[in-house]
Amino acid sequence: GNQARLNAIAGITNRKPVDVEMPLPLNKIWADDVFNLATMEECLSKSAFKAMKKTVHTGAELDPGTADIVAAAMKDWAMSKGVKFFSHIFYPMTNATAEKHDGFIVTNSDGGAITEFTGSLLIKGEPDGSSFPNGSLRMTNAARGYTAWDPTSPAYVMHTDNGATLMIPSVFLSWTGEALDKKIPLMRSNAAMNIAAKKVLSLMGETEIATVSSSCGAEQEYFLIDAGLAAARPDLLLAGRSLFGASPAKGQQFDDQYFGAIPERVQVFMQALEDKLYRLGIPAKTHHNEVAPGQFEIAPYYESANVASDHQQMLMTLLKITAKQHGFVCLLHEKPFAGVNGSGKHVNWSVGNATQGNLLDPGKTPNDNLNFLLFCGAVIRGVHLYGPLLRAVIASASNDHRLGANEAPPAILSVYLGDQLEKLFMDIKEGTIGELLSGGMMDIGLAEILKFERDPGDRNRTSPFAFTGNRFEFRAVGSSASVSGPLIAMNTMLADSLDWIADRLAPALASSASPAEAVFSVLQELMSEHSNVIFGGDGYSSEWHRAAVEERGLQNIPTTADALPALLSPEVQGLFERTGVLSPKEVNSRYEVYAEQYILSIEVEAKLVVDMVTTMIYPAAMAYLSTLTSTLVAAQSLSISLDTGIASSIAETANAMMTAVSTLSGALASHDFDSTEAHMKFCADTLCGMMLAVRAEADKLESLVDDQLWPLPKYQEMLFMR
Ligand code: ADP
Ligand code: MG
Repeated sequence: GNQARLNAIAGITNRKPVDVEMPLPLNKIWADDVFNLATMEECLSKSAFKAMKKTVHTGAELDPGTADIVAAAMKDWAMSKGVKFFSHIFYPMTNATAEKHDGFIVTNSDGGAITEFTGSLLIKGEPDGSSFPNGSLRMTNAARGYTAWDPTSPAYVMHTDNGATLMIPSVFLSWTGEALDKKIPLMRSNAAMNIAAKKVLSLMGETEIATVSSSCGAEQEYFLIDAGLAAARPDLLLAGRSLFGASPAKGQQFDDQYFGAIPERVQVFMQALEDKLYRLGIPAKTHHNEVAPGQFEIAPYYESANVASDHQQMLMTLLKITAKQHGFVCLLHEKPFAGVNGSGKHVNWSVGNATQGNLLDPGKTPNDNLNFLLFCGAVIRGVHLYGPLLRAVIASASNDHRLGANEAPPAILSVYLGDQLEKLFMDIKEGTIGELLSGGMMDIGLAEILKFERDPGDRNRTSPFAFTGNRFEFRAVGSSASVSGPLIAMNTMLADSLDWIADRLAPALASSASPAEAVFSVLQELMSEHSNVIFGGDGYSSEWHRAAVEERGLQNIPTTADALPALLSPEVQGLFERTGVLSPKEVNSRYEVYAEQYILSIEVEAKLVVDMVTTMIYPAAMAYLSTLTSTLVAAQSLSISLDTGIASSIAETANAMMTAVSTLSGALASHDFDSTEAHMKFCADTLCGMMLAVRAEADKLESLVDDQLWPLPKYQEMLFMR
């Protein structure tokens, strides 16, 4: 029972930082394992390289002949790095990353072996994807899914303990062309946004307009826990979070962890991780300690959304692998420890192109500023209209523990603009901006107003969706989530809003004295409908929770069970269908997959609660009670009077705990729900509460039972021992 915990504690004292080689300078290792354009330029003929470059930049299809040439070059390059296997890597509808490995080796009719890698193998793979949740999409047409190379995200070599593999970023779709993954809709959402953005820019008089695309920089928070201690906690290993654990005497109250000295073992881990990231061309930029003890953050520099999303998945994989090599377990769960800050993933998002630059950056010329206001207004409208969608794409059983708690954004979607920009949009709404228009002051006035101070101190940390000077930061995203879902939702709502704007801008331009006047009239209409979503105050306050709902008409959507059904609403289905991002059938399949995952994770936790109490916690309580009662009996026989308080408390608490456990077991046996929604509701409203009821008693026992007998590593051990 308790041996695992005691051994782990003893083990930690002997732990030393892993010996690592001195890292090579960045220019020696940067993107060394990536088959990027620079590599291709070296090993492809001029014409093949030109074709590839066009494909990478514009998404144009590659002809089969060139594909064969690229495949051969890719294979030779990979084999020179010791690679024997290749794998299409893809991103199913879960937050996971999936791989199907294959050898380059092919036997010929003489029984000899040759290595072979053709364009068709590169472009198309056929994994047996039957074990991936598909929300009944493939069931209906009884076909397997297949993967197809995404040449806009570079192939790379992944080194592991058992060798090196050539990884080929791919999409995953059904034979009938339906998206079974997160990459296809992300690419489609980018394309839809590009078309709508170009429409608006060309109405604004721009003549040269390059492809508009979205960018993403994700800040990843995570916990590191000693591997020995984690091994003694089945809940951490199987559910990714602690289902039990009394609050430690020393918690977060000292705030000495934030930016604190990074402990040596962690420092060595971070260097090793960054070394790997650099070799893979992932631009890791900052790392530091986070608010909670044992919590850290890593933020790569931003990249195009599609590549950033692939890199984010790789980063999560590498965090876990590298942690293991350094004697840690990396927890990406949103709330591994109750009473301690959770982990998020701030998704920084902007859109732009090579000719107009970042369209969410105010810019220098009057025209830049008008473009900026239109795009910013489009985002405001999007968040207001599709708030429930944004809530749905960040919904998971694990993120529910974090949202709305007093450290993370509320489960109400609002937009923070900062004082100056908020005032400007309110002036536009009131029509008072018109004063600037008179007397030709407009250009000067606007340029002045839009000179933002990019002071991070000005940022409102309590907002789920904040403008931060030249981008929006979606802060409510969970640490374990793929960034694709949020990016798809943001790109798509932006496309929809830009279409709405374009429809009004054309007539407004025709009837206005100046482009500025036309822009302000469109934005005034937009603001008259959507200004309620703008909020600069304290998002954690109970006053906001009340006012948002009662006065602003915004929705507070506390759980995944409440959030996911938004995917079935006519508004969301219409949005995705109009923009060509997802068909209703594809959205429905996503709803099924996400709902299933939600139900599954809560049921797994509930079963774990029953198991751990029955086989670990109750036995520990009984062992201690048995010692106590024997002592009490012996003492009584010698007429020594002893206090029986603790023994009674243990007995009472243990009984209460077992009653709560049988209630939970009973509930777990329920089935025959009318709908997936009803099943989700049952998990949210019934099972979660019952688990907490068990936990309350178990945590009470932790503070009563002899420390030497307690089987589970305690909070202070997991959070403070490194
Ligand atoms: P903070 O912690 O203050 O929010 P960081 O600098 O740590 O800021 O992280 C901000 C993230 O935003 C980084 O990944 C950064 O590359 C990214 N970022 C910066 N500018 C843009 C932009 N224009 N579009 C998208 N992401 C951006
Ligand atoms: Mg941030």
